Amino acid sequence: MPVLFISHGDCEKHVMLDHHPESPARLRAIHDAVQAREWGHSLVAVEAREIDDRCFGQVHPSEYVARLAALDPGEGIVRVDADTSLNRYSLRAARLAAGAAIQGVDAVMDDRAERAFCAVRPPGHHAESALPMGFCLFNNIALAAERALALGAERVAIFDFDVHHGNGTVEIFLERPEVMVCSSFQYPFYPGRFDDVSRDHIVLTPLDAGTSGAAFRAAIERDWLPAIERHRPDLILVSAGFDAHREDPLGGLALEDEDYLWVSQLLVDAAQRHCSGKLVSALEGGYHLDALARSTVAHLDALSA
Ligand SMILES: [Zn+2]
Repeated sequence: MPVLFISHGDCEKHVMLDHHPESPARLRAIHDAVQAREWGHSLVAVEAREIDDRCFGQVHPSEYVARLAALDPGEGIVRVDADTSLNRYSLRAARLAAGAAIQGVDAVMDDRAERAFCAVRPPGHHAESALPMGFCLFNNIALAAERALALGAERVAIFDFDVHHGNGTVEIFLERPEVMVCSSFQYPFYPGRFDDVSRDHIVLTPLDAGTSGAAFRAAIERDWLPAIERHRPDLILVSAGFDAHREDPLGGLALEDEDYLWVSQLLVDAAQRHCSGKLVSALEGGYHLDALARSTVAHLDALSA
C-alpha cells in the first residue's frame, strides 16, 4: 500500500510578518528535497482538501471556528498573538492543513494507504481548543485523532517530537484518556503551558537545552516505548516538528538528521506491532530550511520503508 504525501500549493500563500521564520519557504524546501529523490511507487502525492466543519467535533468549538473566520483581514495582516498573524489566505491554508490530516486518517483507516505525511502549514500543536497561538490556528493532529475516533478507533496515540511542547494537543485531550499524548520538548522553553500536568495518558519528556541525539534516544526509549505497549493504539499520529535539530535557529537541542530517521523508525515499528502499520504524520516546526528538508526526507524514508 502507498504512503501519501499530502500537500497543497495554497498553504504557501499564508504569510505572516516580514522575515517570520514560519514562512512559505519551508514548504518549498521540503517539496524541492522530496522531488530530488527517487521514491518509486512508495510515495504518492495527493492534493489536500479543506476540512469540513463537521470534523471540528470536540476539538474546536464552533464559536472558535467562527471567531477565526471573522478575523479574515482582507488586505493586510491581523495579529492573533505576539508572533501569530493572518493574511487573506491564512484561513484557507489552515483549513487545508487540518483537512490534510483528516484525509490522511481517512485513507489509512480505509486501507487505501498504509501511512501519510502532511506537508502543510500553518502548524497546529500549539493551538488549544479555543486559543490560537505560536504560529498555530487549528490543531491539525488533534483533529486527525478526533477523526480516527469518529471512524471507530478506540485508542489513538499522538507522538510529538517538536522542540516545543505540544500544549494545545495536551489541553484538548487532557480529560480524554482514549487519546494518549506523548511530547518531548526543550524545557524550560516556549510555550510554558500544560507542561506539568499529571495523567496516565499524558507522557511528558522535558529535555535540557543542549540535549544530544544519544540522550534524546535514551529518553524516548525510556518514556515512549512502555507508553505504547500500555496504550495499544489503533492508530499512531505524529506531530513532526524538526526544530530540535542542532542547526535550528529557534530551538536549543542538538538532534541530527539520523535522529529523525531513528525516532520515525521507532514509531513505524510501533505502528507495525499495534495497528497494521497505520501512521499519519503532520508537519509542525522546523526553521532551518536545509535541516528541515533533510530531516523531512529522513522521516519519509522511515515512513515509506
Ligand atoms: Zn516548534
